[in-house]
Amino acid sequence: MDRQQEFVLRTIEERDVRFVRMWFTDVTGTLKSVALAPAEVEGAFEEGLGFDGSSIEGLSRVTESDMLLQPDPSTFQLLPWRGEDQPTARMFCDILTPEGQPSLADPRGVLKRVLEKAAAKGLTCYTSPEIEFYLLRSAALDPVTDEPVPVDYEGYFDHTPGGVVQNFRRDVVLTLEEVGISVEFSHHEAGPGQNEIDLRYADPLQTADNVMTFRTVVKETALEHASYATFMPKPFSAHPGSGMHTHFSLFEGDTNAFFEAGAEFQLSKIAGHFIAGVLRHAPEMAIVTNQFVNSYKRLWSGAEAPSYVSWGHNNRSALVRVPLYKPDKVQSARIEYRGLDSAANPYLAHAAIMGAGLKGVEEEYELPPVESDDLASMSSAERQVAGHRSMPGSLHEAIREAEDSEFMADLLGEQVFTHLMRNKRAEWESYRTVVTRQELETNLGLL
Ligand code: GLN
Ligand code: MG
Ligand code: MG
Ligand code: MG
Repeated sequence: MDRQQEFVLRTIEERDVRFVRMWFTDVTGTLKSVALAPAEVEGAFEEGLGFDGSSIEGLSRVTESDMLLQPDPSTFQLLPWRGEDQPTARMFCDILTPEGQPSLADPRGVLKRVLEKAAAKGLTCYTSPEIEFYLLRSAALDPVTDEPVPVDYEGYFDHTPGGVVQNFRRDVVLTLEEVGISVEFSHHEAGPGQNEIDLRYADPLQTADNVMTFRTVVKETALEHASYATFMPKPFSAHPGSGMHTHFSLFEGDTNAFFEAGAEFQLSKIAGHFIAGVLRHAPEMAIVTNQFVNSYKRLWSGAEAPSYVSWGHNNRSALVRVPLYKPDKVQSARIEYRGLDSAANPYLAHAAIMGAGLKGVEEEYELPPVESDDLASMSSAERQVAGHRSMPGSLHEAIREAEDSEFMADLLGEQVFTHLMRNKRAEWESYRTVVTRQELETNLGLL
């Protein structure tokens, strides 16, 4: 029993915690939870908690279905929305095989392996996500328009007197702080009912855990405000999608390895290689950064979503943006990946983006020229001359990119890779044969 585990057991006793939830995610990033009686926690620390992995998407084959959950004591947190009396707490878990080895099917484990590789080279990464989502009146569609119904019709940075979203955002931010997640900004986004909340930087594993907690807090708080929150990448045809821009910085010891005084954009060589890695592998990792059929509706809708592979400085159509350098904040030098959407599995998405960046550093990939033009208004010939490839146009194209990718196979490991591809092929198959409203509207009266 180590000190963190002892601390957890003591807190459970002192606060009279009645339920301890074990949290983990399946391959697509759906949160899974099993509640433990307090008396069982010590055993879970020592031997893990047995469960049937075969019922969880992507976890294990039916023939070897026994798996173990090993709670990570550093993630112990009381859940304030479950009330003060008879409190409930949670811990994120790693998934182990029956032999007690890290399971190769665990998305959190995929990210941990990337982080261990970076640590072996003396590199530490920090990330911070800007998470967009829509707040709707309910999960039901409007019977007339057949679309979701947003809680308001405000836009970017609007201040809505008396509107539901202000109180909602305040409650989300306060609850997040209670569970140890700091928020830097929160505001109305461009779409009706669309909001953005930006979390403070943390190490990537913590950020991925934070994103999972964030989604739960946002959904719970929405219900308290008699509304419904969705992280679907593109719930409205006519309004912007929900992205999860994520900022990455890399440290060697105490110094920000992305910063170099006097260099162009103050970007070090390492930063250049990292960006080059992310750009080179972006189309093949779209299967995890943009994992749903619906993700591609966002990527190709304009509205500042990046459809092409390029990097820029003040360019909001670029896939990777280098934010304005602040002379007093050398340590904040970073890059922003704008492709990611709010419905990604944060463990796999972080693993892919970091893994691609680190591969670029390791193999010294050459940084392509910076793009200052708006990618969407360039002609395809201009983009071709400039060497900007397209992101996949659909989940089908993303599957094609990923299935030939050695990078993704290595990164995810055979089990996660196989399960993910099987899940995504099934999603595409079920979508491709559906006749959509758009087809009926354009074809039915004409043909
Ligand atoms: N909603 C846009 C996207 O889908 C981002 C808009 C912004 O924050 N500039 O990526
Ligand atoms: Mg933002
Ligand atoms: Mg935004
Ligand atoms: Mg941004």
